[in-house]
Amino acid sequence: MKISIVGGGIAGCSTAYYLTQAGHDVTLFERDSLASHASGFALGGLIPSIGGPPDDPYGVLSRYSIELHRELAEQLTGHAGGRRGDGGGGNLDFLRKPSLMLVKDRAEEESMRRVYGQYAEDHTLDIRWLNFGEFSHIEARISSTVLGALYVSEAYEVDPYKLTLALWQAAEQQGARLVNRVVTAIAVSRDRVSGVVTKDGTTGADAVVVAAGPWSSEMLAGLGVSAPVTPLKGQIIRLDAPGPPPKVSLWWDHDYATAKADGLLWVGTTEEEVGFDDSTTDAARDRIISSAVEMLPYLEDAELVQQTACLRPVTPDGAPIIDAEAGPDGLVIVTGAGRQGIMLGPSMGIAAAALATGAEPPVDVSAFSLARFS
Ligand SMILES: Cc1cc2nc3c(=O)[nH]c(=O)nc-3n(C[C@H](O)[C@H](O)[C@H](O)COP(=O)(O)OP(=O)(O)OC[C@H]3O[C@@H](n4cnc5c(N)ncnc54)[C@H](O)[C@@H]3O)c2cc1C
Repeated sequence: MKISIVGGGIAGCSTAYYLTQAGHDVTLFERDSLASHASGFALGGLIPSIGGPPDDPYGVLSRYSIELHRELAEQLTGHAGGRRGDGGGGNLDFLRKPSLMLVKDRAEEESMRRVYGQYAEDHTLDIRWLNFGEFSHIEARISSTVLGALYVSEAYEVDPYKLTLALWQAAEQQGARLVNRVVTAIAVSRDRVSGVVTKDGTTGADAVVVAAGPWSSEMLAGLGVSAPVTPLKGQIIRLDAPGPPPKVSLWWDHDYATAKADGLLWVGTTEEEVGFDDSTTDAARDRIISSAVEMLPYLEDAELVQQTACLRPVTPDGAPIIDAEAGPDGLVIVTGAGRQGIMLGPSMGIAAAALATGAEPPVDVSAFSLARFS
C-alpha cells in the first residue's frame, strides 16, 4: 500500500519503520527537521506504568512498548546517527537505569507504599520501598528531608533524538522517502483519504497517518475531525554537576534528574500551558534549579550548560490517541502521548502501521480511540 505520514517525530518515524518493515510504500512529510521538536529534546526516560490493575490498557501498552524498545536497541544498532555534530556513534544510548521515586510527605509515602505492596506479592516487577538510610548506598547526596523512595528496577533510558533518527534511517533503508514540506491539508475523495496536499500539489496515498504532535488537532480540523490534543510546554536544564554522576534516575513531584551520555545531569521540568510558544524562560530555569537543589543540595555548585524547551502533545486524560475510526476511511491518528511519548512511541508506531494497512494491531489499542472523548 501507498501510505503518507505527516510528522517526523517518534510517532511518525516509528510508524514509518514498522510500515516499511512490512513492505509498504511510505512517504513521510516533515516541515522542519526530523526530531526537531519534543522527540529530539525529551529526557528519554522509559519508566513502566505502575500502580494500576494488571489489565489496565495503558499499563499493557507501556510494558509492550518497553519490550519493543529492547528489540529496537538491537535491531537499530548501526543505524543511529550522531547528535548534532558529536561525530556519530552507533547506538541509541539505550540502557537499563533503575529509578528512585523520592517521597517528601506522609500522604505520598502512603500511596507509594501501597504501590510497593501491590508488587511485593506478585513479583511481576522488581519494585521496593526504601526508607531514608536504605537508599544512601545508591545515592548518598539526597536531602535528609526525603522520607523514603520507591525503587523501580526495570526502568530504562534512551537518547530520544538518536532513537527517532535511527527509526527513520532504518525506514529509509527499507524504502521510505522524506519530503521536507508543510502539509496544508489531507485530500479526500468519496469519503476516503486520497493523499496529502503541500505547496507542490497533492501526493496520492491509500492511507494517511497523522503523527503531527501537538499540531495534529489543527491538521484534523481541516477534515472536520475534532481531536483534543494541545501543547504542554516542558523545559529541561543540563548541568555540569560536581562529583560522580548518580547511578539511578531520580524523580519527585513532576520533576527529575538523571545523568546522560553527554556527561551532564539533565534536570526538569515544567508543565506550562502557553500555547505553541516553545521558548526557554528564566523563570522556568530558576524553578527547576530550586526544586533540584531542595532534593539534591550538592547541585548548589552545579554549572548551567544548556536549557531547552519543547511541546508535548497532550490529551485531557493523558493517554494517547491511536485511531482509525474517526473521519474518512484510510485516516489514522497517532498522537497525544504527553509526558510518555518516547516510551510509548514504538507501540504507537507498530499499532498505527497495522491500522493503516487494515491489519489487527499486535497490542489492543481500542481504549485509545478518539471516540472516548465524545
Ligand atoms: C521536557 C520534556 C521531557 C520529556 N521527557 C520524556 C521522557 O522522559 N519519556 C517519554 O516517554 N517522553 C518524554 N517526553 C514526551 C515526548 O517527548 C513526546 O510525547 C513525544 O516526543 C511526542 O512525539 P510526536 O512524534 O507525537 O510529536 P513531535 O515530536 O512533536 O513530532 C511532530 C512532528 O510533526 C511535524 N509537523 C506538525 N505539523 C506538520 C505539518 N502540517 N506538516 C509537516 N510536518 C508537521 C512537526 O514539525 C514535528 O516534527 C518529554 C517531553 C518534554 C517536552
